[in-house]
Amino acid sequence: MSIIHTAPLGNPPAWSLVMDRCAGQCECTGSCGRKHDPCGRGTTRPTVAPADLALSPVEAAHVPVSGLRAWCPDCHRLARRRHAQAAVRRAQHGNEPTPTLF
Ligand SMILES: [Zn+2]
Ligand SMILES: [Zn+2]
Repeated sequence: MSIIHTAPLGNPPAWSLVMDRCAGQCECTGSCGRKHDPCGRGTTRPTVAPADLALSPVEAAHVPVSGLRAWCPDCHRLARRRHAQAAVRRAQHGNEPTPTLF
């Protein structure tokens, strides 16, 4: 399931507000794990997605403008992958027996 939106999501005014705020620039601050040079500048129109990558698409549609971020496609893909990997690690860690400390 994808939460990438290239068109207005549940809240079109929010989408255009984010686009105004970011002036078409990616607003990623490093969640993607890359050293942050300005990325996607002028080349790709960012998508608008919640800064919180844990939200479901339904929740994402109700995020206020302050919780939305413009992402270039690369940052969004990488950030979501990192987030998914972290969730998997947490899940695996939760299933491991607690190490015994001597
Ligand atoms: Zn970016
Ligand atoms: Zn980034």
